[in-house]
Amino acid sequence: MGKIFRIAIDGPSGAGKSTIAKRLALELAIDYIDTGAMYRAVAYKMMSEGISVDEVDKIKSMLESTHIDFAKGETILDGEIISDKIRTPEISELASDVSALPVVREKLVKLQREMGKRKSVVMDGRDIGTNVFPDAEFKFFLTASVKERARRRWNQLKEMGKEIDITQVEADIIKRDHNDSTRKINPLQKAKDAVELDSTTLSIKEVTDFILNIVRPSL
Ligand code: C5P
Repeated sequence: MGKIFRIAIDGPSGAGKSTIAKRLALELAIDYIDTGAMYRAVAYKMMSEGISVDEVDKIKSMLESTHIDFAKGETILDGEIISDKIRTPEISELASDVSALPVVREKLVKLQREMGKRKSVVMDGRDIGTNVFPDAEFKFFLTASVKERARRRWNQLKEMGKEIDITQVEADIIKRDHNDSTRKINPLQKAKDAVELDSTTLSIKEVTDFILNIVRPSL
């Protein structure tokens, strides 16, 4: 291909998007942009500043002085590394609510488009193939059963030292799936031209290789 290319990976929470996207970025020596972390960063800042989802004017002015960036695999909000702080069940839930607000989506989608304009990227989220980069060169839609996704999230939280009842994790996932796929703007949806892959019984390597086998021959 020789020119810049974008790989869009969409799908519900816990489908393995970020794990796979990180691997792909490494294999292909391109940048990884975690758009979920951007919605989480906004939720985190709102929580820190005591702003609620219905205070749209306050959110709007907060966003004017908000800077989100990625460096060396870390998420940076206004100069502070917040990667671990945004991986809590509270932030997950708030991020899902916040992501339904037009004012937030407008700002973050604009930023995401700028990030993928000048260099090749792998970007994961819910609306990358449908809205952020409808003309992305490669599009994938990654899924897995609710039970498997809950098990993965539970493991992640456990590794971070957070012991939570797995049935609670599963309930949170079901709620977020519902929120994300029924919101009015840019809901979670498979792009018509995306390749769908169910990762329930596949290893990280199997999913990564599947995608690389599609991407590499076209580069
Ligand atoms: O992927 P992650 O779980 O980190 O995303 C957090 C939340 O951000 C999701 O539940 C979803 O509501 C929102 N999101 C979104 N659009 C994206 C990425 C994430 O609405 N492109």
